[in-house]
Amino acid sequence: MSSFELTGRRVWVAGHRGMAGSAIARRLLRESCEIVTATRGELDLLRQADVQAWLAGRRIDAVFLAAATVGGIQANSTRPAEFLYDNLVIESNVIHAAKEAGVKKLLFLASSCIYPRMAEQPMREEALLTGPLEPTNEWYAIAKIAGIKLCQAYRRQYGCDFVSVMPTNLYGPQDRYDAEGGHVAAALILKIHAAKMANRATVELWGSGAPRREFLFSEDLADACVFVMKNYSGEMFLNVGTGRDMTILELAESIARIIGWRGTFTFDRSKPDGMPRKVMDVSRLRALGWSAPTDFETGMKEAYRWYVANAAESGS
Ligand code: GDP
Repeated sequence: MSSFELTGRRVWVAGHRGMAGSAIARRLLRESCEIVTATRGELDLLRQADVQAWLAGRRIDAVFLAAATVGGIQANSTRPAEFLYDNLVIESNVIHAAKEAGVKKLLFLASSCIYPRMAEQPMREEALLTGPLEPTNEWYAIAKIAGIKLCQAYRRQYGCDFVSVMPTNLYGPQDRYDAEGGHVAAALILKIHAAKMANRATVELWGSGAPRREFLFSEDLADACVFVMKNYSGEMFLNVGTGRDMTILELAESIARIIGWRGTFTFDRSKPDGMPRKVMDVSRLRALGWSAPTDFETGMKEAYRWYVANAAESGS
């Protein structure tokens, strides 16, 4: 096991306004490092020359690459060009510029949705590229696979200490609370809270409610990212999850219980189910010494509290 000290380092969190990036920036407050961020107005990650110039002048030691164009199943299938182009360009720009600027360590965030649709469950890291992708998110998946491959290629050819993690479905503060474009956990918090406020008796779920998903609290993901940055160097990426899954209907029922809404769910079967099941094999990361500390109930209560305090009014 290698070790990389964060104490005294200058650490750039790319994508610090998103759910994963903001959680990483909060988690880094507990390390004695200097956290560097740039807003989109200050640095457009889609512009290669700007990214190179920005990194060249900043003496950055470590990068968490959490910047990405993301969204739920609907956004993924209706905005294929953005999901493919933005993500390919962002990760290429940052990874190449990091090498040019002599960044000592970089951690790239991929996603569990890049495994083949029919991958054996729980999904082991070895399942990558062993079969066809889930069509609803193949654009995003292709881009994220390229990001992993960039890290591996830069390690092989240039000796860069660039690693990747594969987070499962996330929930938490700063998620995109958007009924149409968001991921399922955020969309259901929004819809069920709205039903409670309006005294509505039903909430509509997309698809059949039967697909199985695993949910990781974003603060736990951040903790894992810091752990991996400090303790792991290797070409093989690492799954980050809880290793436990539930059906979408069970997710909806748990959220309803936490919110305190007693109604029934209906199903819009014109919407896609996506992958039948997605749960990670997390034995690699566990063997290194990390497992998710927060149980679903605790994490979801915190996510809901954040939503009510910060996002519920505007509905955004
Ligand atoms: P995925 O895990 O990559 O498929 O993406 P999502 O986080 O968007 O989860 C999608 C799963 O949740 C699919 O099985 C959807 O049919 C189901 N689902 C049920 N209701 C909703 C909803 O309101 N929004 C979203 N995004 N998904 C929903």
